[in-house]
Formats: sequence, structure tokens, C-alpha cells
Amino acid sequence: MKKTVRDVEVEGKRVLVRVDFNVPLTEGRVADDTRIRAALPTINYLLQHGAKVILMSHLGRPKGKVVDELRLDPVAERLSELVDRPVRKLDDCVGPEVEAAVARMQPGDVFLLENTRFHPEEKSNAPAFAEKLASLADVFVNDAFGAAHRAHASVVGVAEYLPSVAGFLMEKEIAFLGQALAAPEHPFVAILGGAKISSKIGVIDNLLTRVDGLLIGGGMANTFLKAQGHEIGQSLVEDDSLDVAREMLERAGERLVLPVDVVIADRFDAEADSKVMPVDQVPDDWLILDIGPETVELFKRKLAGARTVVWNGPLGVFEFPRFAEGTFAIARFLADLEATTIIGGGDVVAAVGQAGVADRIDHVSTGGGASLEFLEGKPLPGIAALEDK
Ligand code: ADP
Ligand code: MG
Repeated sequence: MKKTVRDVEVEGKRVLVRVDFNVPLTEGRVADDTRIRAALPTINYLLQHGAKVILMSHLGRPKGKVVDELRLDPVAERLSELVDRPVRKLDDCVGPEVEAAVARMQPGDVFLLENTRFHPEEKSNAPAFAEKLASLADVFVNDAFGAAHRAHASVVGVAEYLPSVAGFLMEKEIAFLGQALAAPEHPFVAILGGAKISSKIGVIDNLLTRVDGLLIGGGMANTFLKAQGHEIGQSLVEDDSLDVAREMLERAGERLVLPVDVVIADRFDAEADSKVMPVDQVPDDWLILDIGPETVELFKRKLAGARTVVWNGPLGVFEFPRFAEGTFAIARFLADLEATTIIGGGDVVAAVGQAGVADRIDHVSTGGGASLEFLEGKPLPGIAALEDK
């Protein structure tokens, strides 16, 4: 168990909070404020308890240089609406001007430091840079689960110099994902999809030591189907991973469930001709873009009695409405399921949002890459750096 903001004295203290404000911008405005909202419980708690709140985040990939389009001003503007008080955006994250501004802070003030990635030392986790960030505060709070897999200065480095605890979002992510891996209520069923098996071998590997069932769809299912000897036409496949797929099939036995029918297309296009076929009848010049209706029913039967479900990766090319139904149908089914349901991964989270059921899932992880590494069973440096209770 990690210490949280509840376990430290924050009244009158300067509290440096790493948040994940890496939000999409369009025309200089925040296009989706989900990540800003996700940090509100921690920010509001600190304000209610009389802290001086200093926020920091990266945004985009400025590659260690100042990029004006990646300044955090639009984020500060949106945040100030959400916390209903001014949020002062500083023009850098370290340096004498920042130090002077912070020295004049009052309890209840909220400052947002400039994009940490404007400095190359952020990614290289240079100790001198981390120490400068840390010198601004008395306590460090990490609430940026989405960045917890990065050993960067604002994530890991600062924790060397300050008492370091988790924020509420971080706490929730660790609670749900950690519980599912360490002590899940059984039956525990995982659903895996997405484009490539190669990016998820670590996840399959780790989940196979824990799950009662593993349902596989999406592009990665094709490699398994081919490994079983099916012809998959022009479908996305990774021939380099055929051996791994065979090995996983053997290890998993009955637990691993693959599509029995698929929605195929005559080309990779939203307007492509499409039809449903059994997996052993995919024509040579067609490609698999979704799981079929019989597979949806099969997956539902396998999920029906589950007590814990973890899902990563969409089951089809959900970006094309014609090939989104498999993913959406499973999302709707999980929304009504009496089980602890957890969804992690950039694209599957977007898909479940499009299906309109995200609020009926127990935990929608805010970390794409971070949740994937968590599911691989890897210790995340940003979590490891925080103090244990
Ligand atoms: P996540 O972000 O949830 O971890 P991935 O990044 O691994 O998921 O994969 C998401 C992508 O997989 C989506 O863009 C989707 O279009 C693609 N995909 C899903 N099924 C297929 C398929 N059958 N063929 C090609 N691409 C697919
Ligand atoms: Mg993705």
C-alpha cells in the first residue's frame, strides 16, 4: 500500500503535484478535459486542506525545446473553470522567476508550471533538474498514473528529494488494477484485442498465470487463427509471432477463446463491402475487421458468470462504424454485468466511450501505456518511487 495525500500534513505546505494534463488541443483550446477532471479530487482535497498547490505536467512531444503550441495556458484556463478560482500559469517549470512566484504563494493558490518536457532533463531524469523542481515544494504528490511508466524527472526524480505520496487518481488505479492482478475474485476473465499481438505478448504471458478465461479478438486474433492453420486472407498478421502464438495456445488450453466467425471486408476502408463468415471460410482477397455475431454470443457466455473482467484492446476496427459492432456489443454487455469490470488501453477506452457505457464500467483506466505495463506485471517506476504505508 502506498501512502496517499491523506497520510501527510498539507496545511500551509507547498505541495508539488504531478498530474497528467497531456490533453488534446484544437485551435488553442482543450478538446477533451477528461484528464483534467480526473485530477480534481486530489486538487480539491489539497485546496480544502489549506495547501499551496503547484501542478506540473508534460504535454505532447516538444523534444526538450520550447514549443509555443504546447504551452499549458489553455489547460490552466480550463482548470480554473473547473476549480472555480484563478489558476496561475507560469512560463517555465524551474528557475528564479518560478521560485520567486512560488515564494509569494498563499494557501488556496493554484499554480501550473509550464510543460516539463520543454527541458531535455525531464526525460533524461537529470538529478539537478529534479532537485530544482523539488526545491519548489515541501511535499510531492504523484497523481499522473498515465505517466507512471516513465522514469522522468517530474515522475521519479523529484521523489528522491521530497516526502512522496499518491494522489486519489493514482490510488484508484493501483487499487483496481493491483487487486485484479494480485487477488481477483474468480472467475477472472480477460478480453484482449487491438492491432498487434507483438505489443501485448507480455500482457498475455502475465494474464495466463492468473485468468480462468482469455477471450481474444481484434487484429491480434488473426495471428492465433493462422497459427491454428486457418486461412486469413489479407488480414493483419504478424508472421514473426506465429511461434509465440502456438506456444500460448498450448499453455492456455481451453481457457483461450478465439473468434468462431468474423466480419470481413474487401478492403481496409470505412465504406468497404462487408460480410460475416465462419473463420475457416475467409476468402483469399478479403480481410478480417471485426468479430462476428456468433463470436459475440460465445464471448458473452464466457463472461456471464465472471466476477472480475479486465479488457484491453478493441475487438475490431471500431473507427469504422461498420466494424465497431463486436467491440460495442461487448462493451454494452460488460456495462450490465455483475462483476468488477476494468478497462485499460488508449483505444479501447475511446471505443467504450463511443459505445456510451463508460460510466457503467467500474474502472476505466486513464493510463494507456501505463495500464498495459501494469498488466504485464512490470513495476511502474512512478509508483515504485512513492512511499509505502
Ligand atoms: P489499445 O490502445 O486499447 O491498447 P491497440 O493500440 O493495441 O489497443 O489497438 C487498437 C487498434 O487496433 C485500433 O486502431 C483498431 O482499429 C485496431 N484493430 C482492431 N482490430 C483490428 C483488425 N481486425 N485488423 C486491423 N486492425 C485492428
Ligand atoms: Mg492504442
